Amino acid sequence: MSRYIASRAIRGAHLLVNEADDLLRQTIAEVGSDAPVAFPNTAYYLPTINGMMGVQVETLGQLEPVLKHARDLLHPIPSDCRWMPYLGETLDSGMATLFAAEAIEAVRFVRGDEPQRIPGFHMTGGSFTSPDAGANGSGGNGYLNGPIDDVQLRSWGIALVDGRMPGFAAIVGAAKSNEVAVKIVRELQRRNILIFLSGNVNGRSIIHQLQEEGVEMGYDTYIVPFGLDTLSAIYALGFATRSALTFGGLKAGQAREILLYNRARVFAFVLALGEIDDLKYAAAAGAINYGFPVIADTVIPQILPTGVTQHEHVVSQPFNTIPGKDDLERAEKLVQKAIETRGVKIKLTEVPVPVPYGSAFEGEVVRKKDMRVEFGGKYSRAFEYLRLLPMEEVEDGKIEVIGPDFSEVEEGGAMDLGILIEVAGRKMQTDFEPVLERQVHYFVNGASGVQHIGQRDIAWIRISKAAADKGFTLEHFGKILHARFHGEFGAIVDKVQVKVITDPALHAEWLEKARDAYNERNERMGSLKDDAVDEFYTCTLCQSFAPTHVCIVSPERLGLCGAYNWLDCKASYEINPTGPNQPILLGDTVDPVKGYWTGTNDVAVKNSQGTVHEVAMYSIMENPMTACGCFECIVMLIPEANGVMVVSREDTSMTPAGMTFSTLAGMAGGGLQTPGVMGVGKYYLTSPKFISADGGFKRVVWMSSVLKKTMAEEFQAVAEREGEPDLIDRIADETVCTDVDGLMAWMEEHEHPALFMDPIF
Ligand code: SF4
Ligand code: ZN
Repeated sequence: MSRYIASRAIRGAHLLVNEADDLLRQTIAEVGSDAPVAFPNTAYYLPTINGMMGVQVETLGQLEPVLKHARDLLHPIPSDCRWMPYLGETLDSGMATLFAAEAIEAVRFVRGDEPQRIPGFHMTGGSFTSPDAGANGSGGNGYLNGPIDDVQLRSWGIALVDGRMPGFAAIVGAAKSNEVAVKIVRELQRRNILIFLSGNVNGRSIIHQLQEEGVEMGYDTYIVPFGLDTLSAIYALGFATRSALTFGGLKAGQAREILLYNRARVFAFVLALGEIDDLKYAAAAGAINYGFPVIADTVIPQILPTGVTQHEHVVSQPFNTIPGKDDLERAEKLVQKAIETRGVKIKLTEVPVPVPYGSAFEGEVVRKKDMRVEFGGKYSRAFEYLRLLPMEEVEDGKIEVIGPDFSEVEEGGAMDLGILIEVAGRKMQTDFEPVLERQVHYFVNGASGVQHIGQRDIAWIRISKAAADKGFTLEHFGKILHARFHGEFGAIVDKVQVKVITDPALHAEWLEKARDAYNERNERMGSLKDDAVDEFYTCTLCQSFAPTHVCIVSPERLGLCGAYNWLDCKASYEINPTGPNQPILLGDTVDPVKGYWTGTNDVAVKNSQGTVHEVAMYSIMENPMTACGCFECIVMLIPEANGVMVVSREDTSMTPAGMTFSTLAGMAGGGLQTPGVMGVGKYYLTSPKFISADGGFKRVVWMSSVLKKTMAEEFQAVAEREGEPDLIDRIADETVCTDVDGLMAWMEEHEHPALFMDPIF
């Protein structure tokens, strides 16, 4: 342990705890100790304080004992002449720093000083996007993000568990130059690592640097600007703490377990750019508690491995001494060094395109004014079709552009496009065609400056002027697909060839063929019934976050995150026979109505480490399926209404249960079985097997309006199937009532069928 670091961290911690005390005292004097305190859009209170101390702070006054505890953790600042500090004392100071930092941020919210603002700053899809934002939620209101929303945490959850997103990098400070700043985030984006930004060096922050270079920041691009000071780095540790609570099934106050969970499962590190002051040392000590190493680009003493981490705690990698032909190469190596230090192997598929490529660009929007050309949408037709061919009919890597390219199309114009992907492989099956085809969306979207929406014959692709200027052509669609299908589906796909079709006659011909294939697939999917198969599948992907949860996926009930249906699981099992999707042989039927089989029960016991004994596939009232945290909707019993409500993740309003989605999520998730509460994928709502043992879809008495709107057609079909064609109009939503009395009045007025059904329990 370096005395230098220890001294500075301890000194920084003292300063910050004092600052927190002063600010709290002053604010209590101004607004009183009962003034409410909260971070926005989270059900986890002040997450680090809640997680570590088990204290749910809701008022300013409740921060006083928290700061007292922080003070107790402080150790005397070591004298210069005597060697004294140990790692333990530095870590304590780090923890005190985190409590003080979180307290200060919370008080700043009370004072209206958080989230911070930068004039002219604009972010896509962040927490504080203004209501006057543009079509894609881009706000020009200058707000930085502040803490991450629960909704966002959960929606990243799946990507974090299935490895698409390895973890996060908390960058503090400012890079040597704007160019280096951009390179560092691009290198991280390329690996799908979340990027949290905070801090400054002499007033200049990496946030300014990226803003000046026109780098898009926001949830969609994986770059979250927290704030301009070191303090706001606390939001990264709040995120880590909530991950452990949300996905690890841990409870507030289990400090040791939460820290161990992060050390073992959350791939994260701190990149400290530029000069390091006492507060940064103190904050770094806080991060080390979580097992997150700190990599600095300046000369500082290092801290070598000890019990807390298997890797170095603090690594000094002075920027100018990194070997490389220029600063860009040095930036690249700095990122590599950070990743090596945290020690996770990241799979990188090299995609030969002239623009940056990675999942971080998936959410990127190409606006009309920035667009070079589009395919599909209002003015043209684009389709994509993937089919299986015999081995000898596919020439691997062959990419043909058949027809004119877009050079003839005027700027901002449109043209027809067809993407025909032909694959061959010994383990490939026709059933897997749609599974693979659906990936086209993610694969194409990964190119910076390319936007992909939709699928099949309603695909809609835009190429930006910037991407076209860099040389992106139609051929690159083929290059991307070839590389990615090999990279991710190499176990079932041996050969891939791609035809990019713009020739009008050929386009028409293949569009017809593609549509025939889509119809065939629809019929096949429609005929896939639970009682027509011998096996269901497990999905245990979320166990790295929720160790007792298993999704049981059947043809008529998809995984609760909505991302994995029965065919996906079947394909995934072929690709990776020892992976998270294992076949469940159904065995003996115990109860066909509630949905019990010996096979599913066995799997439930085994995969829940014994916490669950039985799972009813078709009931919410009896042994419902558990949930991790990734569910698209929550279904919950409303006893007075003799039915259930369905709340969408996108709905932040109050519900008749007296709780919002984020509070309900705490009850539904964590791998526990709670009769009357269930997290589900939204397409399960349309299944004939949706709580069929409890009366089925007619039990739905209230539903978030966003679901009604976005799935109008599907629900209409369900209503007709259930023999109540006007059912959807009789289901209440948040625009008509958000409490039980209002709900009952609505149901009576609209004669909701649930009122006339047998008691649900
Ligand atoms: Fe997680 Fe279930 Fe989705 Fe699998 S299907 S990723 S276990 S939520
Ligand atoms: Zn999950």
